[in-house]
Amino acid sequence: MNSAAPSPNSSRPPIPARLHDAPTAQGLAIPFLTLCHRGRTSPVWGAIDPERYALVLSLRLCQVCGEGLGSGQGPGQQAVVFVRPHDWVRGVGPEAGLHPECAAYSTRGCPMLAGRMPTYRSNAIAARITPCPDPECGCPQWIQPGPDSDEARRAGQPAEAWYSILIDARDYRIVPFQATESDPVTYGVELRGLRIRRLRKVRGTPGSGPTILDRLAAMLDLDRLTP
Ligand SMILES: [Zn+2]
Ligand SMILES: [Zn+2]
Repeated sequence: MNSAAPSPNSSRPPIPARLHDAPTAQGLAIPFLTLCHRGRTSPVWGAIDPERYALVLSLRLCQVCGEGLGSGQGPGQQAVVFVRPHDWVRGVGPEAGLHPECAAYSTRGCPMLAGRMPTYRSNAIAARITPCPDPECGCPQWIQPGPDSDEARRAGQPAEAWYSILIDARDYRIVPFQATESDPVTYGVELRGLRIRRLRKVRGTPGSGPTILDRLAAMLDLDRLTP
């Protein structure tokens, strides 16, 4: 996922074959979605490139490797969507889908998903407005995300519980949604009616009770055990 930067103590999971061509920084493959200075060697960890985000959603690309998530040309292609309990309640999630192997890599390499960070990175947005010395880099023009963007809302907030949902890639749909009537229409992953193949908790929040997705996971496990 794209919400956090590696810390000096982060583990460096092995880079999967699908990501061997991806640029790296600090030993980690840089996700396709991550905002980078020119040359894609210097990422702004935690910041999303808005142009790439639009591409990822409109072309159904994996947010980590930037390749297609499968167009439904047959069974067997799977995708993973990361969601939080309130995304599930709302029926739309802002995190673009991933290939299962890219999701596994993200889960281990991203400090937020791996549970090593208690809060979302708060300096990611500020980092956007610190231009690098490269005169050809477009960073002086980088636009701040709006105060209502998911990214701006997350900054500095306590980390939330995250879950991974494995689905058939044919069920992966991008839909328009509005957080509130006064918010602009944005796009996200449709969660309503999603056929779940597997639901796993990726990280919890200390001291909080079971969420709606914990209960759903328990129900799905029970279903599996019941003939
Ligand atoms: Zn991928
Ligand atoms: Zn730059």
